[in-house]
Amino acid sequence: ILEKLLDGSMEGRTMYVIPFSMGPIGSTIGKNGIEITDSPYVVVNMRIMTRVSPKVLECIGDNGDFVPCVHSVGMPLKPGVVDVPWPCNPDNTYITHFPETREIISFGSGYGGNALLGKKCFALRIASKMGKDEGWLAEHMLILGVKDPQGHKFYATAAFPSACGKTNFAMIIPPDALKKEGWEVTTVGDDIAWIKPNKDGELRAINPENGFFGVAPGTAMETNPNALLSCAKNTIFTNVALTDDGDVWWEGLTKEPPAHLKDWNGNDWTPGCGRPSSHPNSRFTAPACNCPCIDEHWEDPEGVPVSIFVYGGRRMNDIPLVYESRNWAHGVYMGATVGSEQTAAAEGKVGALRRDPFAMLPFCGYHMGDYFNHYLEMDTKYHVKLPHVFHVNWFRKDANGHFMWPGYRENARVLAWMVGRVEGTAKAHESPLGLIPHYEDLDWNGSDMTKEQFDKIMEINPEKVKEQVADNTKYLKETIGHASPTLLHVSDEILAHCN
Ligand code: GDP
Ligand code: MN
Repeated sequence: ILEKLLDGSMEGRTMYVIPFSMGPIGSTIGKNGIEITDSPYVVVNMRIMTRVSPKVLECIGDNGDFVPCVHSVGMPLKPGVVDVPWPCNPDNTYITHFPETREIISFGSGYGGNALLGKKCFALRIASKMGKDEGWLAEHMLILGVKDPQGHKFYATAAFPSACGKTNFAMIIPPDALKKEGWEVTTVGDDIAWIKPNKDGELRAINPENGFFGVAPGTAMETNPNALLSCAKNTIFTNVALTDDGDVWWEGLTKEPPAHLKDWNGNDWTPGCGRPSSHPNSRFTAPACNCPCIDEHWEDPEGVPVSIFVYGGRRMNDIPLVYESRNWAHGVYMGATVGSEQTAAAEGKVGALRRDPFAMLPFCGYHMGDYFNHYLEMDTKYHVKLPHVFHVNWFRKDANGHFMWPGYRENARVLAWMVGRVEGTAKAHESPLGLIPHYEDLDWNGSDMTKEQFDKIMEINPEKVKEQVADNTKYLKETIGHASPTLLHVSDEILAHCN
């Protein structure tokens, strides 16, 4: 099918050849690719999102390794045909990956994830298979650095399904009172982590990307100033609105919308006209080096040492703010049972749990059950220095449908507790789900959160846990298959803690 479609598909267009590196050029963890495309949009975005340079060709050399990536918008420009601003071929769209031969062919779409082939296609789908074969992990995870008041530095990676807060957590600014104490958070990456044990068995992570491809609507100085400031220069905006003086605007950027805009389709727009000015999935493509809180080691070719793994999703009911795994298998179980509740009717039944193990379901390049085993083997086969593993839920709601936890900057209090767990200074207590903090184990400096409120956010109902465990077991056995007995044993362990 592809050979037939690709034959002559670039006719009349310019073919671009993009040598790119995922990760710092020459890094032992990084990898090279070459993308061929007929889309100038892809060229300029790849130039920000990856490291594009003739040096990559030098690195590849005569017999070097690279992932070949072919992309075509799938609309030949024959003489007499009038081109459109966003050529694509919606009736014939194929985004294909060949994990065995490590090749990518994408046809008929100009959308970021389908066309910037370094991102989800290479850095997750192909790289996850490379990691399986070579003993490392390619993850849908942000990477952040956190410095405690004593100046000790730690790195955490966190996997949340799309639209569950990765970019926000990666660029978090601790509450002022914690900042005064000396807490500091820096960003290494907001979407993808490649994590590889070094020769001493320490887990080292790099951000294979070179920029942020973020959702624009809702991004503002009040919500995520570091993301907005990353867009201050050398940034591409896609499908946003234009102001009369040539600036960009999107829903949520300012409280008061401008009196007049050109919307994302180029039509006149005024407040109250009944249409959003920007596409809900409109994007900014910003160089990571613009980010005010970028970590000093973000381009270290050896990667940063990771000691904290975090998993989470949007869970309205029953799942507490945070808990820690009892052991590695329990941590893998936490990742394997990640799910998020649907927030828009368009996604299906509102509130229904959409399972997304490790936030990797759309991005894993091989069987998910084998992927869980690969994780278990980080201990049993590769003997890596294991990180502490936590599960978080920023999205628990009360009976009136209000968020119980303020979230955003306040999440840094939870992060500080995690650091304390790694350092051995913070306490944790047994619960059915795992190890949990009590009210007095968190730093509430500058907060008005009461013990009663916190206890509600942390409430764990053993009967509900039993239901969740039964559902998890069914999911692992029936939907995933290949379920390792080790993971099923975790279900039994949790049940034992319920009684
Ligand atoms: P990503 O797609 O995983 O990178 O998620 P984003 O960081 O872009 O956030 C997705 C949505 O979740 C945005 O609307 C955020 O405002 C919202 N969000 C992020 N963190 C929190 C939080 O701690 N609490 C609440 N209630 N919402 C959050
Ligand atoms: Mn994001």
